[in-house]
Amino acid sequence: MSKYYSLGLIGYPLLKSQSPNLHSAAIRSSNLMGEYKLYPIEPFPLGKDALFEIVERVRDGQLSGLNVTIPHKTNIIPVIDKLSPEAELIGAVNTLYSQDGVVFGDNTDATGFIKDLSRHFNRVFDKKSKKVEIEKKKALVLGAGGAARAVVFALLNAGWMVIIAARNPVKAMDIAHSYKLFANSDRIICIPLEKKSISIELHSINLVVNATPVGMYPDVNRSPWPGGLTLPPGAFIYDLVYKPHETKFIQTAIMEGLPAVNGIGMLVEQAALAFELWTGVSPSREIMSKAVEH
Ligand code: NAP
Repeated sequence: MSKYYSLGLIGYPLLKSQSPNLHSAAIRSSNLMGEYKLYPIEPFPLGKDALFEIVERVRDGQLSGLNVTIPHKTNIIPVIDKLSPEAELIGAVNTLYSQDGVVFGDNTDATGFIKDLSRHFNRVFDKKSKKVEIEKKKALVLGAGGAARAVVFALLNAGWMVIIAARNPVKAMDIAHSYKLFANSDRIICIPLEKKSISIELHSINLVVNATPVGMYPDVNRSPWPGGLTLPPGAFIYDLVYKPHETKFIQTAIMEGLPAVNGIGMLVEQAALAFELWTGVSPSREIMSKAVEH
């Protein structure tokens, strides 16, 4: 008899999650049998027992695999047995699975981001015969939360120089500090998310990543980019926000003639990579993308 995959997501609240659509599409298109359920677990301390209990269900094989989202990406670390090197360095887990009673925690956000970025970035720059050399690549990441942490890790790992622009410099410094062991400290700098500081760096930047929620539905008229400042000439613009599909930040990039994409590609890729860990099957990214609600 073929295996039935009991999959799901833990986090809180989970009302607007796209994960059930994405993973149901992946299950169907891979001709597997299974389900993907939402398991809302309240923030600590209220949700502590529930978090332990659900990890036990992964350990004993009742659940084949889980995704983890806010507020449990970090809380869950002491509850599981083994972390992937990426999850350990990033300090956050978004995927759980078990083998022989050992619960593993992985993080597919960073690889999901860099795979999607490479797809877009190489296509655009190859087409224009303007592919930049890796040592000259400089990225500006806006924000210093959980997503920024994964994005900065992925970029450093791929050889980029990274500038983190955040409204809270302590959080940015904290990210820089946690990666200084594997990236030289001169490959990562932190600046305030302000017009004056960004304008000094403007002409050396090849990529801008919005890793703040600014511009996300329902605040669709807001942009994370400081007013009165043009975008870096020739840069690629990547907005992690995907609702709406065309954010104010992306609209500005298009008006300035720059290539720009939203976060749907990353959303799909991180989900597909988790699905591969659970099932060993690489699902159709195209079918999964079509399942994301507009
Ligand atoms: P988070 O941990 O809450 O971090 C948000 C960051 O944005 C923090 O640094 C926060 O600063 C900053 N920020 C919030 N409002 C701001 C404002 N008005 N001006 C300047 N900075 C502001 O959230 P996250 O998990 O990193 O997620 C960030 C965004 O990425 C969300 O929209 C999320 O949906 C999206 N995302 C997309 C994907 C994908 O697959 N496409 C994956 C993950 C996340 P403070 O620390 O000062 O509050």
